[in-house]
Amino acid sequence: MKSLNKSTILNMVRLHGPISRAEIAKMTKLTPPTVTNIVAELLESQLIVESDLGVSTGGRKPIMLRINSSRFYVVGVYARAKKINAAIANLDGKIIHQLGSKVPPFPTMEEFLQTLKSLVGDCLKLAEADNQPVLGIGVGMHGLVDPQKGESVYAPHLKLRQIPIKEFLEQEFKISVEVENDVRAIALGESWFGQGRNLSNFICVNVGTGVGAGIMIDHQLYHGTSYSAGEIGHTTIDANGPLCSCGNIGCLEAFASGSGLVLRARQAIHSGKETTLSEMVHGDLEQLTGEIIYQAARKGDPLAIELLKETGRYLGIGLANLINTLNPSRIILHGGVSRAGSFITEPLKEVVNARSLEVPARQVSIVSSNLGKQATVIGAFTLVLKKLFTPAPS
Ligand SMILES: [Zn+2]
Repeated sequence: MKSLNKSTILNMVRLHGPISRAEIAKMTKLTPPTVTNIVAELLESQLIVESDLGVSTGGRKPIMLRINSSRFYVVGVYARAKKINAAIANLDGKIIHQLGSKVPPFPTMEEFLQTLKSLVGDCLKLAEADNQPVLGIGVGMHGLVDPQKGESVYAPHLKLRQIPIKEFLEQEFKISVEVENDVRAIALGESWFGQGRNLSNFICVNVGTGVGAGIMIDHQLYHGTSYSAGEIGHTTIDANGPLCSCGNIGCLEAFASGSGLVLRARQAIHSGKETTLSEMVHGDLEQLTGEIIYQAARKGDPLAIELLKETGRYLGIGLANLINTLNPSRIILHGGVSRAGSFITEPLKEVVNARSLEVPARQVSIVSSNLGKQATVIGAFTLVLKKLFTPAPS
């Protein structure tokens, strides 16, 4: 009960600070002595500080309280197949340091965990050099994640199972660790710092190596029964389509992911379509990437433009299904697709309008994230902030 009141007050100061003890008591309906006691504890732990005096309503000017945001750090880690990125931020979410580390190709679980450990260790050294205590580490991990256990259940791009990330890092560093699926972490980051603020129902769609969604329903991340909610990349959009990495046929991901796009480009080049793409990679089609296709489109290459438009149309089908199923107020696009701009988003929106039902289509706005490439590390450290500030039901 006491810790619940503590986070309630802490969250009140975060959302409404500078705020006085009397205002906290009024807004939380806690008794003034309870507020005074808990505030004393929070001041003692340095999580909040007394700041300037407030406006008097007759008597003595009240002492105002605010979050001591520059006194502590949180660490956010984005664990991908080839690279792990980390950001160190203060309690306002301002990034102070950033670092990254390459993952060895096809790592064993031990090699992967060692890479993670050495990067987190470097983060903690930086924090120590700044004389800033670290309140927690958040990890956004691709694939299927059990956030209760803090375990990567299955990481398809690493082909590893049951990686005990939380247990391993907590044992190593004696700091609390939160682990979440990367796209779900992104959605949480958007709800605190991005375009999901104040929205109760929205969806983040990340299009990169894979296609996934982080779903926020009634201000809560939706996980599903076994944490696999949001796998829109593996919904079927063409029953006769190409083979997907999951073994199924005609999945959205097989068409619209970065690798799906490159595959379609290679097929079109082989069939003799006129394009500058093969020139751009000096004839080595293995070097072709989504980024190169985007560069070619910007220079007016007709095949590259058509390939991106096609990607937009495929994604539009996937998003229309999502909109008809969940009726979100906003869809926030992430990953390469959000950077490819109108080549993809225009046809995408056309298909969404044509294929979703009228009422949900009118309500939804489709936007590109403005958190940029940092979105996942921001989401990862927001896992720590959420635990700290959000009163959890006991
Ligand atoms: Zn699939």
